[in-house]
Amino acid sequence: MDFSLTEEHIMIRDAARDFAQTELLPGVIERDNAQTFPDELVRKMGELGFMGIMVDPKYGGSGMDAISYVLIMEELSKIDASASVMVSVNNSLVCYGLEAFGTEEQKQKYLTKLATGEQLGAFCLSEPEAGSDATSQKTTAIDKGDHYIINGTKNWITNGGRADTYLVIAQTDRDKGHRGINAFILEKGMPGFDIGPKEDKLGIRGSDTHTLQFNDVKVPKENRIGEDGFGFKFAMKTLSGGRIGIAAQALGIASGAYELALKYSKERKAFGTEICNHQAIAFKLADMYTEIEAARHLVMKAAWEKDQGNNYDMASAMAKLYASKVAMEQTVEAVQIHGGNGFVKEYHVERLMRDAKITQIYEGTSEIQKIVISRGVIKG
Ligand SMILES: Cc1cc2nc3c(=O)[nH]c(=O)nc-3n(C[C@H](O)[C@H](O)[C@H](O)COP(=O)(O)OP(=O)(O)OC[C@H]3O[C@@H](n4cnc5c(N)ncnc54)[C@H](O)[C@@H]3O)c2cc1C
Repeated sequence: MDFSLTEEHIMIRDAARDFAQTELLPGVIERDNAQTFPDELVRKMGELGFMGIMVDPKYGGSGMDAISYVLIMEELSKIDASASVMVSVNNSLVCYGLEAFGTEEQKQKYLTKLATGEQLGAFCLSEPEAGSDATSQKTTAIDKGDHYIINGTKNWITNGGRADTYLVIAQTDRDKGHRGINAFILEKGMPGFDIGPKEDKLGIRGSDTHTLQFNDVKVPKENRIGEDGFGFKFAMKTLSGGRIGIAAQALGIASGAYELALKYSKERKAFGTEICNHQAIAFKLADMYTEIEAARHLVMKAAWEKDQGNNYDMASAMAKLYASKVAMEQTVEAVQIHGGNGFVKEYHVERLMRDAKITQIYEGTSEIQKIVISRGVIKG
């Protein structure tokens, strides 16, 4: 068993760390306030190969492994979780979904642009009445021979406004239950495809989240992903890998807050000494470090399972469940260590605390992760 990173992994991590410090940190508070994220930064992340990290270079990707993906996600998330969620959705939901299950034509047409960051992708599963219960899809895709007609509403869609390519899950045959669900590739601008206003959120405010409306959208049959009825399996398989990305995002949010709290505790004085010399604060730091290390091991293990070609459904669910809990709890502690300064934007920890919450909600809530894990445990 070898816990050390390779030289290549260290280089990749350092490149992401450098980018986060020099490009993401300036303006992160302003972007959070204004709920914006400039196209220029997305373009730069594409140039660094962050938009198609695990994609085969023949489709424009970086050809890296899942460990590299996790390292990049952690570094970006320490500074700006709005940037990292764009990276995560594009990489593990959209690019992975197309590369693993798309046809060669779909890969050439869409994946090559998504993996380079020339275009951005969105993954559209959730609906007003189908969140955790994703089988209750109300969006319909009626088979019309050489095309499908799609009607319905998707909500909470990350990259909803700025994406070019949308992977949309819809019900084709209700009588077949989840075996009657399909996944489709839609393009922005298709007639009948409307994008609603941006959500005003607690955290990851730089990331755009929208409701999407489909009114008789005509989608050619060649835009269906996989065999007829493969859509639900497609969504579950894709989300399983996505959870590794969100677990790494949670890890980054927690470790970013920890690093800020440690530094602050060595500078801030109270009762004639740096506050890290008060045992109550020192023990908080000890707990934070231990919990974050435990989360890191689960996240790395999930990525390693994926790299080995093993089943990683349980590993990714455990990593997301635990890392998101650590992110929520330890960002609160980071705010506490900062005292009053923790409560204002300038010190960054309040933003990390707000950003942490979403990691317990999207790509399957913590309760849903426990369903996945408990099923696995009981099945043996
Ligand atoms: C900022 C943001 C970005 C998002 N991005 C995307 C995206 O890009 N694409 C996309 O498709 N979706 C996206 N989502 C949607 C997200 O995945 C859902 O919000 C999430 O799956 C929960 O669904 P819900 O909101 O309908 O909650 P519900 O499913 O209504 O759940 C409400 C509560 O009930 C609990 N619950 C539900 N069922 C059970 C059960 N069987 N046992 C125990 N507890 C249960 C849940 O855990 C939760 O606590 C995003 C959401 C947000 C907020």
